[in-house]
Amino acid sequence: MHRFSLMPDRMVMTYRDVSAAFLTELEIKLLFVDIDNTLAPYEQPEPDEHILNWVADLQGAGVEIVLVSNNNPERVERFNKDLGLKAYPKTGKPFSGDMKRHLKDSGLKPEQALVLGDQLITDAWAGHGLGIRTVIVPPIRDKRTWFFRFKRWLERPVIRRYMKEHPEYVYPFEQLKAAEGKQNAGVE
Ligand SMILES: [Mg+2]
Repeated sequence: MHRFSLMPDRMVMTYRDVSAAFLTELEIKLLFVDIDNTLAPYEQPEPDEHILNWVADLQGAGVEIVLVSNNNPERVERFNKDLGLKAYPKTGKPFSGDMKRHLKDSGLKPEQALVLGDQLITDAWAGHGLGIRTVIVPPIRDKRTWFFRFKRWLERPVIRRYMKEHPEYVYPFEQLKAAEGKQNAGVE
């Protein structure tokens, strides 16, 4: 059964906080990563040095990284060219059959996988639907379309509640609280 939950399991400031040590502590072997606004803004077509190093680090720690994006194949293929990861474009989060199949084929348990993304309605829901824990980062740069504003508006109470109930899983708390305030200012 698809479990509906938008509540993240952790909130961190940037994808780089999801380090090899962080994943080892949670016993994660498989990381599903969103691209847009999680690793890079929409207008950045290729990974920068930080992303390349981060990927190499995690791979060195024995973690498989899989790109899962709702964006088109051109965007995903170009971004992935230097990374050479398994990548699923147009993957239909939160109902991604690719993620479900990939997890099954990996032979890992959902508890050994993690989803990293910037959106509750696509990324967090997709993970939880498969019984996978999720880590959410604030979007690097938002598209200011009405659709995105609407989604952020829907997410806002969940983020607030989460920060209130689980400050121990929000890192670094003060910085994220300030970031949340700024984003909210942007959607009002
Ligand atoms: Mg995104």
